[in-house]
Amino acid sequence: MSSFRFESIESVGSHSKMQINSYNGKKVTAIFGSNVFTGSALRQYLTDEAYKSLTKSIQSGTKIERKVAEQIAAGMKTWAEERGATHFSHWFQPLTGTTAEKHDSFFTLKSDGTAIETFDGDALIQQEPDASSFPNGGIRATFEARGYTAWDPASPPFIIESAQGKTLCIPTIFIAYNGESLDYKAPLLKSIEVLDKAAVDVCHYFDKNVSKVTATLGWEQEYFVIDESIANARPDLVMCGRTLIGHTPAKGQQLEDHYFGSIPERVFAFMQDYEQESYKLGIPLRTRHNEVAPAQFECAPIFEEVNIAVDHNTLLMDVMNKVAKRHKLKVLFHEKPFAGVNGSGKHNNWSLATDTGVNLLGPGKTPRTNLLFLTFFVNAIKAVHDHADLLRAAIASASNDHRLGANEAPPAIMSVFIGTYLTSVLDEIEERVNGKFSEQDEVILKLDIHKHIPELMMDNTDRNRTSPFAFTGNKFEFRAVGSSANCASSMSTLNTIMADTLKKFKVEVDAKIEKGEKKEIAILQVLRQYIKDSRNILFEGDNYSDAWAQEAEKRGLSNFKTTPEALEVLIKDDTINLFKNMGIYTERELHARYEIVMEEYVKKVQIEARILGYLCTNHVLPAAIQYQNTLIENVRGLKEIGLKPASYKAQLNLVEVVSRHIQEINDNVELMIEERKKANKIEHARDRAFAYCDHVKVLFDKIRYHADKLELIVDDKLWPMPKYRELLFIR
Ligand code: ADP
Ligand code: MG
Repeated sequence: MSSFRFESIESVGSHSKMQINSYNGKKVTAIFGSNVFTGSALRQYLTDEAYKSLTKSIQSGTKIERKVAEQIAAGMKTWAEERGATHFSHWFQPLTGTTAEKHDSFFTLKSDGTAIETFDGDALIQQEPDASSFPNGGIRATFEARGYTAWDPASPPFIIESAQGKTLCIPTIFIAYNGESLDYKAPLLKSIEVLDKAAVDVCHYFDKNVSKVTATLGWEQEYFVIDESIANARPDLVMCGRTLIGHTPAKGQQLEDHYFGSIPERVFAFMQDYEQESYKLGIPLRTRHNEVAPAQFECAPIFEEVNIAVDHNTLLMDVMNKVAKRHKLKVLFHEKPFAGVNGSGKHNNWSLATDTGVNLLGPGKTPRTNLLFLTFFVNAIKAVHDHADLLRAAIASASNDHRLGANEAPPAIMSVFIGTYLTSVLDEIEERVNGKFSEQDEVILKLDIHKHIPELMMDNTDRNRTSPFAFTGNKFEFRAVGSSANCASSMSTLNTIMADTLKKFKVEVDAKIEKGEKKEIAILQVLRQYIKDSRNILFEGDNYSDAWAQEAEKRGLSNFKTTPEALEVLIKDDTINLFKNMGIYTERELHARYEIVMEEYVKKVQIEARILGYLCTNHVLPAAIQYQNTLIENVRGLKEIGLKPASYKAQLNLVEVVSRHIQEINDNVELMIEERKKANKIEHARDRAFAYCDHVKVLFDKIRYHADKLELIVDDKLWPMPKYRELLFIR
């Protein structure tokens, strides 16, 4: 009998009795941000000069002088030490998809051997992590393996607590010795800057007082939580974060009894615990609830400036992993940990806010502010229309292919949902803004726009849950982002394409104004053109349906179901020019990124293929053969006592069926190994990725089909790995 599975299930009992109730009854406001060097801590621990310089840098991105950095470092060290920190670390987000830390002690020895604690400006501003093994897509030749982390003053330092001690973490970018970016944050910061500039310029048509526009992000994080021991009894979950085999349970999500139901107690305790940790780190979590699939949940914060929101999301994932351990739980951020039930996404709610307090994607109350809203709204649609393939590429990963490319919404086809009212507003602009324009037309149109938009709020009810990019009242919600992704990838792309579109918009409007057109009319005329140009990307129906896939094809929209296909756009001339002109990536950086993501794809599929082969050969087949032997024994005995074959027909049939599945698994696993060998010999990263996609990965489903059939046949006692019902329902 396979003991690991049953032992793991046994241990759940003791795990769920071990109720951790960490909720200390304190108000959130009493602990919020207590481990973050921000707000009043800055005032208290910094000199006046340092305080002014840092807040100015945070607001307008100005450089901080060495001398002042020295003062900031000193204040930061005192603050951190008073809270028990002994070490500091530059905290960054390399392209591995996780966060990286390299801890250094404050402790050092003076030349005469005196032990002191120190943290100087240099250590704050720049570090050289010994990190030659982070993905770099060939940017860092091995002889020049230096990479630097550089302080991002816009994101506040924080203290990470663990049972082992406390560490002061300083958010940084990660770049090569020649300045080329090797992380998610550097391009994000650049995209924030170009969008700020482009958006402010357009805002000036309406309000000269606007001097800064910030992109805002509120992410909704979906995840699964299962018992740690049961998870550990599945090599596929441990190594790949998802199950590679496993038959769908009799009861899945069809009763819809989990969604928004009461949160299971053990998970509730876990939520409260990670929320507390998050509050200390200044992550403004607000919402928690069950999601559609069994064992699936969601949390969401109050939105923040996009750079900080991205840091908070990556930090949260880290916190959740750590806190789950205390609760003997395992969090799964994978997009599709279980076949047959819903996968997980990370909706990126995105908008633009001015320093005068206006949400540019929030419909206004007067004709004037509504034209401002429409300007940004239509430009966003145009940006998605013109660069849909780039958005698809920004969210491409082996794990997200299981959502976007498979039978799940949203699909891989990018489209924008805006709701009935806004559709009619756009229709009307297209219809009525034409060449000849009388004063009266103008007035009526303005009034109409004004009249229409407040009704928008009611539009919230007909939200389309299947759209990859939906307008939801005062923001766009990019829903196709994967649950395990770093939001920076989608956000830098979105910021960049929006900036590009706004810049072109400004040029076109200015040209009309120069020719003597009135400003409002010029704006409306360009908007009308953009609406016409972008029609193809608007879709209000069911994105999940086959009819949409066909319709989209007719419209000429791309439908890249796999990562290798989706990534090709990254190295096209148009893309290179766009990112170069906007100052986000050089050509070399783009090529490097392309290679890194392709390589990552290959590695992920390769690991999954190995684990799948291992599971079949070492777990599934032995169990099947053992069961088959019992059947054979049985048949032999029945024959011995003189029964006719007709009376053990069922057993004979089972022996045969089991044999057939064993054969199929064996043959396909062998074929998969052959294909892997062939693929590994391919030198070019692109071709290797396609080989893995088209020849290796395609075998997964075939193999799985037979393994899952065997799971249904083989004696339950002999089955070595926890089944779906145990993974999803026991806690
Ligand atoms: P749901 O989409 O599940 O109904 P909500 O509409 O409440 O949820 O909001 C989802 C997320 O959108 C939250 O994180 C919220 O903070 C964020 N959000 C709301 N307004 C904005 C905005 N102007 N910019 C960015 N994110 C926003
Ligand atoms: Mg949402």
